[in-house]
Amino acid sequence: MSRGKDAMGKVTTTVLGYPRVGGRRELKRATEDYWVGRADAASLQETAAGLRQGVWRELSGAGLDAVPSNTFSLYDHVLDAITLVGAVPERFSGAADPYFAMARGTEGVAPLEMTKWFDTNYHYLVPELGPGTRFRLDWSKPLAEHAEARRLGVETRPVLVGPLSFLLLAKSTEPGFAPLRLLDGLLETYAELLERLAAAGVAEVQLDEPVLAADRTDEELAALRRAYARLGELSSRPRLLVATYFGEIGPALEILARGPVEAVGLDFVSAPGNLEALAAAGGLPGKTLVAGVVDGRNVWRTDTAKALATCAALLGLSDRLVVSTSCSLLHVPLDLDAETSLDPRLRERLAFARQKVDEVVRIGRALNGEEVVAGERSVERFLNPRVRARLDALGEGTPRAPHAERLAVQNADLGLPPLATTTIGSFPQTGEVRQARAALRSGEIDRAGYERRMEAEIDRVIALQEDIGLDVLVHGEPERNDMVQYFAEMLEGYAATEHGWVQSYGSRYVRPPILFGDVSRPEPMTVRWASYAQSRTKKPVKGMLTGPVTMLAWSFVRDDQPLGETARQVALALRDETRDLEAAGIRIIQVDEPALRELLPLRRADREAYLQWAVAAFRLATGGVSDSTQIHTHMCYSEFGEIIGAIGDLDADVTSVEAARSRMELLDDLRAFGYTRGIGPGVWDIHSPRVPSTGEIEAALRTAAATVDPALLWVNPDCGLKTRGYPETKASLRNMVEAALRVRGET
Ligand code: GLN
Ligand code: ZN
Repeated sequence: MSRGKDAMGKVTTTVLGYPRVGGRRELKRATEDYWVGRADAASLQETAAGLRQGVWRELSGAGLDAVPSNTFSLYDHVLDAITLVGAVPERFSGAADPYFAMARGTEGVAPLEMTKWFDTNYHYLVPELGPGTRFRLDWSKPLAEHAEARRLGVETRPVLVGPLSFLLLAKSTEPGFAPLRLLDGLLETYAELLERLAAAGVAEVQLDEPVLAADRTDEELAALRRAYARLGELSSRPRLLVATYFGEIGPALEILARGPVEAVGLDFVSAPGNLEALAAAGGLPGKTLVAGVVDGRNVWRTDTAKALATCAALLGLSDRLVVSTSCSLLHVPLDLDAETSLDPRLRERLAFARQKVDEVVRIGRALNGEEVVAGERSVERFLNPRVRARLDALGEGTPRAPHAERLAVQNADLGLPPLATTTIGSFPQTGEVRQARAALRSGEIDRAGYERRMEAEIDRVIALQEDIGLDVLVHGEPERNDMVQYFAEMLEGYAATEHGWVQSYGSRYVRPPILFGDVSRPEPMTVRWASYAQSRTKKPVKGMLTGPVTMLAWSFVRDDQPLGETARQVALALRDETRDLEAAGIRIIQVDEPALRELLPLRRADREAYLQWAVAAFRLATGGVSDSTQIHTHMCYSEFGEIIGAIGDLDADVTSVEAARSRMELLDDLRAFGYTRGIGPGVWDIHSPRVPSTGEIEAALRTAAATVDPALLWVNPDCGLKTRGYPETKASLRNMVEAALRVRGET
C-alpha cells in the first residue's frame, strides 16, 4: 500500500462544514417566526430537520466520501457547544427557552456577549466560565443528528468545538480566573460524550481547534497535549480528527503528530506554509491528513493544478490523504447557480459552497486517476492599466503638513468652538427611506423621483441638527443601504450578488460584495449628497466615506495579488473622492475604518506588515486634500490593543471612537502612545434606546477635558444612528449639546 492512500488505495474527500440557512434563507424566517410567536417549536424543528437532511443528501449525492453532521445550528455552533457541556450561566436557568435566551436575552436578562469568530465576519456567542462552572453533558444534539442522517442512509462525522478552543474562546466571569483551569473537568465531559458516540456507532468525530492558528503560550500547548492524551486513551471512542484552520498550525503540529489522534486537518489555503512545516516535521506517519486545499472563506474557483500539486506533495507525508475545504463552507454563499445577473466572465471564476463541494470531489477523483481535471482556472484578471500607472506615479503620495500646522489653518478656517459637537454620520433609517430605495429598485419611481425623496430627507436631517445646535453637521446617509455595498455598487472592479447571503450572527445574514478586479471610480460617489446638504446650511457639513481596510474586510476580495495592493486601489478611488468633496466646498471629511482592528492577523509576527499597508492605504486615501480640509476617522471600539500605535500613524486630524463602556480611560492610553490629535470619545451608547442624561454626559466630558485639550476634544455619540429611532435620537443629541455647552461654560 502506498502512503497517502487508504486501504483501498484511494484518496478520499470531505468538507469541514456547510451553510445552514437554506437556499431561500428558510432558517432565518423560521427562527424569526418562532421568536415572535408566529410559529411554534415544532414547526421550527421541522424546518431545521428539512434543512439538515437536504444538506446530507446533497453532500453524499455530490460524491463526498465523508459527510459532517452537527454543523447545523439554530443560531451558533459555539452556543451549541455551551449547551452540549452544560455551561449555561445561572441567569438563564429560569428561561422558557434557555438556548435562545442566551443568544438574545430576555426581559431584564442580558444575553451572552457576542464577538468575531477569528478574523471572519461570523460572530459567536462567548461562553462565560468561572471557578463555579460545573459541566454537565447534554449529548442530545450530536447524537440525534447522527441518527437522523443514518436514517437517510448517510453515515456522518459529528463536528464539535474542540475542548481547547472552547476554553480559550470563553471569557472569565471573575478577574484573574483563566477558563483553561477548567480543562480537566471539561475533558471528562468530552470523554463521556465520545463514549456515548462510540456506543451509537459513530466511527469518527471532528474536533475543531481553530485557536491553534493564533500564537499560543507554552501553557496552552501543554493543555493541548494533555487534552488529546486524555481523549486519545479512551478505550472506546470514535476516531479523532483534530481540525485546524485560518492559519498555520505552528508548534501544535508536533503535539498532534505525536499524540493519540488518528487524523489532523490543516489549512493549505490561508497557510501554504503548513506544507513546509509538515515536511520539516517528518509528516504525519501513521495518521490521516485532511488537507484543506479548497478555500472555504472566499468565492474563487480553485486553481486545480495548484491544488493537485499540493496534494501530490502531501501524499508522501501521511498514511492517508483526505481532500477537503480549508475551513467550514459556512463563510461562503450557498450556490452560484442562484446568481443570474453576474458578468459571465466573472461568473466562470467563482465557486460558492455547492461548487466547492464539486471541486473537492473532482480533485479527489483526479488524484485517484479516475478523472482528468481541466488545468488551471481562467486567467481573466480584470486589470486596469490606468489605475496601475496612476498608483505607480503616486507612490506613497506627498505627506500632509504636520498636524499642528494643519490645525492652525483649520481652526482659522472652520472657527469651531472647543468641545465641538457632531455625529458619526448616519441618522435613523426611516421606513420612508427604505421604501424609497425599494421603489427605485422595483421601478416604481425613477432616479429623479428617488433623488427628490433623498433630498427631502436631507433637508429634514439638516434642519433637525441646526435646531439641536450641533456644530458640525452630516447629511445623514439616507441613500446608503450599507456602508460598504453602497460604494461597491459605484466602483468598477466590484460586483454585488443577488442571493450571496452569509451568516453574520444568528438570523442576521449579509451579502458581501465581490471585489474581483482593479478598482476604479467612474464618477463621484458622494459629492452630490454632501454638497446638497452643505447648500442647506452655513455650518460645516462633514463628508462621509468608508475607508479602504473596511471596504476589504466586508467584501470577498480577489486573491491574485496581496491585499495591500488592492487596498491601494480602493484608496486611490477614495482619494479622488476626497478631492472632489473638497472642490465642492466640503471642509471636513470623515473616512470610517471600523474594521481596522478586525483584519489584524492572528499571529503577532504578521501584524506589523498588515498595519503598514493598512495605515499607508488610509494615508493615501486621505492625503490628497489641502491642509485646511480636516480629516476625521471613526472606529467602533475603544480597546485598541495592538493597533493603538497605528491610530496616530493614520494621521487623521480627529478620531472618534466608542467609549461609553470603557468610560474615558482610553484617553490616557492614547496619550501614552503619543496620540496628540483631535479625539471624539463617544459619550453615549447608541446600541440601546436609552437616553443619556445631560448630567452623565457632562460628567464624562469633564473627565475627558481633564486630560485632553478642549480644543482637541470632540463631542459625539459612539457610532452612527442608523438603527436608532428618532425619539431617543433627538432627546439624546439635545442632552449631548447641552452638556457640551455646560462644560464650555456657555450656559
Ligand atoms: N458613518 C457610518 C454611520 O454613521 C459609520 C458606521 C460604523 O462605524 N459602523 O453609520
Ligand atoms: Zn461605528
